[in-house]
Amino acid sequence: MEKQTEEIDVLIIGAGPSGTVAAGVLNKNNISTKIVEKQTFPRFVIGESLLPRCMDNLEKAGLLDAVKKQGFQEKFGAKFVDHNNSCDFDFSEQYSKGWNWTWQVKRDQFDHVLAKEIERKGVPIDYKTEVIAVEIDDNGISTTTVKNEDGNQKHIVAKHIIDASGYGRVLPRLLQLDKPSDFPVRTSLFSHIEDNNRPEGIDGNRITIIVYKQDIWIWIIPFSDNVTSVGIVGSPEDINRFEGDASEQLKKWISEIPQLSDRFGNMNFVFEPKQITGYSAAVSKLHGNGFTLTGNSTEFLDPVFSSGVTFATESGALAADLISRKLKGENVDWEKEYAEYIIRGVDVFRSFVLSWYDGSLQKIFFTPKENELMKKQICSVLAGYVWDLSNPFVKQHSRAIKALANVL
Ligand SMILES: Cc1cc2nc3c(=O)[nH]c(=O)nc-3n(C[C@H](O)[C@H](O)[C@H](O)COP(=O)(O)OP(=O)(O)OC[C@H]3O[C@@H](n4cnc5c(N)ncnc54)[C@H](O)[C@@H]3O)c2cc1C
Repeated sequence: MEKQTEEIDVLIIGAGPSGTVAAGVLNKNNISTKIVEKQTFPRFVIGESLLPRCMDNLEKAGLLDAVKKQGFQEKFGAKFVDHNNSCDFDFSEQYSKGWNWTWQVKRDQFDHVLAKEIERKGVPIDYKTEVIAVEIDDNGISTTTVKNEDGNQKHIVAKHIIDASGYGRVLPRLLQLDKPSDFPVRTSLFSHIEDNNRPEGIDGNRITIIVYKQDIWIWIIPFSDNVTSVGIVGSPEDINRFEGDASEQLKKWISEIPQLSDRFGNMNFVFEPKQITGYSAAVSKLHGNGFTLTGNSTEFLDPVFSSGVTFATESGALAADLISRKLKGENVDWEKEYAEYIIRGVDVFRSFVLSWYDGSLQKIFFTPKENELMKKQICSVLAGYVWDLSNPFVKQHSRAIKALANVL
């Protein structure tokens, strides 16, 4: 039987934040757009702490007001603690201009709000529809084969594809663009936990990163409903060192760490703990004739600075702008205007992540000799403002971190 064929200007693969922000910007530019999404929403995904920079992207896509109505936990900073010290970053004390707050969100709810708002604005989302094949001709016109839950297949012909498939990494797989990450394999064991013992004041709802050892750390991300996300990150050998299933292992980790056992020792898991291993990924290129990769289907480094959703929305919004220009007949220098821009931001976080794990950034965070200006500059990076070249921790990220760590 002949497969049904649909035509559209832009096809987006995946309805996570990268896909919906891209759709919002394309929709504002009157570009006909469709999203295909493998799962039904709401669906679980990890990545719950946002950065202020992603507010700019939600606003640009016309999605900010819908999120504001949800009453998600507001996030005004981030706190880092080790066994003896703590370092609190308050986003109102930043060097760069920008938002000084954002949210901590359960991603099933957050992503669902974005997707519903995109549909309300007129962009159709085909759920339970999986991309299984993509062919792109010399003119950049693509024919994508999708399969729905009944096993029925159809073709979608598009002038441009955005691959926002996150961990699905659809185009990197289908077009052989996958590149091994140069980061070591790390794993994360996590759950949501009842949190009826919250400390009073700021500490009760501040995201807190606890350093257990230089390369083992824990996140505590409180939500607005007395549930808190708790996860531990490290090498698979370290994290899996306790006997038992995921639930028993996470309980043992909680009892091992005083800041966790005091608060969560007697609390119930909201769901059976999950473990994700080897999530760092990279690609050989971010764009090609007729396609652009955005969000996690490009490069993902590490969760320690909560940068994933910010890059997902930044790349989604920028790709959508550039595609709109292309479809209106303008020339776009994809390498310069897209790839170089995104990689510049990723590289700032790469230096921060590398120096987190080699201990130099932890030395800077926990020094008693705090430098007010540099703290503000670092705070702006942690808020996601990684394109402000007047900030030395952006412009010369690696050198600035090393120089500061050396004088402490
Ligand atoms: C342990 C851990 C902790 C993290 N913590 C944070 C954090 O605190 N803050 C943060 O910002 N980020 C965090 N991240 C990163 C975050 O998870 C991702 O960066 C973010 O979800 C990327 O969004 P996205 O829109 O690119 O992809 P996703 O949100 O993954 O969405 C992609 C969508 O594509 C769909 N899809 C996949 N394959 C197909 C297919 N073949 N056809 C159709 N649809 C398909 C999927 O169903 C999915 O809905 C963390 C990551 C890890 C591993």
